[in-house]
Amino acid sequence: MSREFTVQGVGITALAEEFGTPLYLYDGDGIADRFRELKSLLHPALEVFYSLKANPNISVCALLHSAGARAEVSSMAELVTALRAGVQPRDILFLGPGKSREELAACLDEGVAAIVCESLDELELIDELALERGVLAPVVLRVNPEFTVKGSGLTMGGKPRQFGIDEEQLLSAQAVLDRCGAVRVHGVQVYLGTRILDPAVVADNARRIFELAELLSAKLGFPLELVDIGGGLGVAYFDNEQDPDPAVLGELLNPLVADFADRHPGARLIMELGRYLVAVHGTYVVRVRYTKSSMGERFAVADGGTNHHMAAVGIGSFVKRNFPITALQRLDEPDSGPWNITGPLCTPNDLLGKKVSLPELRPGDLLGVERSGAYGPSASPVYFLSHGYPAEVLMLGGRPHLVRERDDTESMLGRQHLHLPADAAGPTPERNQ
Ligand SMILES: *Cc1c(COP(=O)(O)O)cnc(C)c1O
Repeated sequence: MSREFTVQGVGITALAEEFGTPLYLYDGDGIADRFRELKSLLHPALEVFYSLKANPNISVCALLHSAGARAEVSSMAELVTALRAGVQPRDILFLGPGKSREELAACLDEGVAAIVCESLDELELIDELALERGVLAPVVLRVNPEFTVKGSGLTMGGKPRQFGIDEEQLLSAQAVLDRCGAVRVHGVQVYLGTRILDPAVVADNARRIFELAELLSAKLGFPLELVDIGGGLGVAYFDNEQDPDPAVLGELLNPLVADFADRHPGARLIMELGRYLVAVHGTYVVRVRYTKSSMGERFAVADGGTNHHMAAVGIGSFVKRNFPITALQRLDEPDSGPWNITGPLCTPNDLLGKKVSLPELRPGDLLGVERSGAYGPSASPVYFLSHGYPAEVLMLGGRPHLVRERDDTESMLGRQHLHLPADAAGPTPERNQ
């Protein structure tokens, strides 16, 4: 038999046998090591907050927390995830353009480090909720700066956006800030984009964000006790892309952090990272059900597809680009030419990989979409065609742990209510349980 893919010494055949497919498999030790490596290369004053959005699994969050990460959350469930994973409220930031009253109230009641406020309307609501509770709401302002950056997969700044408050508006919002007496504005957050591969871009962003933070705090008269420089550090997915070098990031960023920390002793300096921390050590594992050919092209139809991995369609690009895909049990076998890897959905868009060079495939083969630990199932249409959420397994110290059970028919139908039209014959009795 050909060499097979292993995680921490455990073979994929056995893992797929034990947990079934489709399956998300995370190398937990790899994730923790990656966090520690990055942290060791960054200035100690720079705290790293894990953006749960990238992978909201509670055990992944707990793992990163145990390695030293804080948490950046954007919904009630993410907040509760971080808290149950053991993150202290003072190490949690809550961010997002459409926070509910309940979410804001929970931030105040739990005592999170800060609410990242994204509009002046929101500021007034935070003020109202803080007044009701007789507390001072810790708030940092998310700013949509005038400047923009090149080199990001999705640019955030310098454009009309629902995120943050325009720099210009903020400069004329002194009256609103003054009126919100139960809000304690004490810092600034800027997030300029995602999938940034060039460390120089991250450092350049940071320099401009530090400058902007000082300018705003001086003009609007609030203390600078927290500056969140966003992050958006990416990983290479496609041909011609290169992973950012964390050592280079440290070399470029650390002097800026040191300089800012000198001028603002005691201020919390924060970087938010999602994708960079979790993408590389996750594999989406599917099993080939059928192979076929159509009009001269070969297809391997697998038991999971873009319903669990929407990003594999080719993030933010017009032309289909493939994530790295491997025949997990045939690592030594020669390529047999191009294969289209598709899933169970009834749409031609359900294409995990287009014309991927792979060995001869047969029904039953396991395929892995690599670098899939970020923006996987939680960012995919998991209910499309009612296949539901896949299982998730976290490997730690050579042992697999099931950290999320796959949905089954009952778990999905259990959320629905059968309402029959009055003249309907009714369901077949044996199915109506
Ligand atoms: C999505 C998001 C992140 C995480 O982005 P990554 O590219 O996964 O690191 C961080 N901050 C904000 C404001 C975000 O919207």
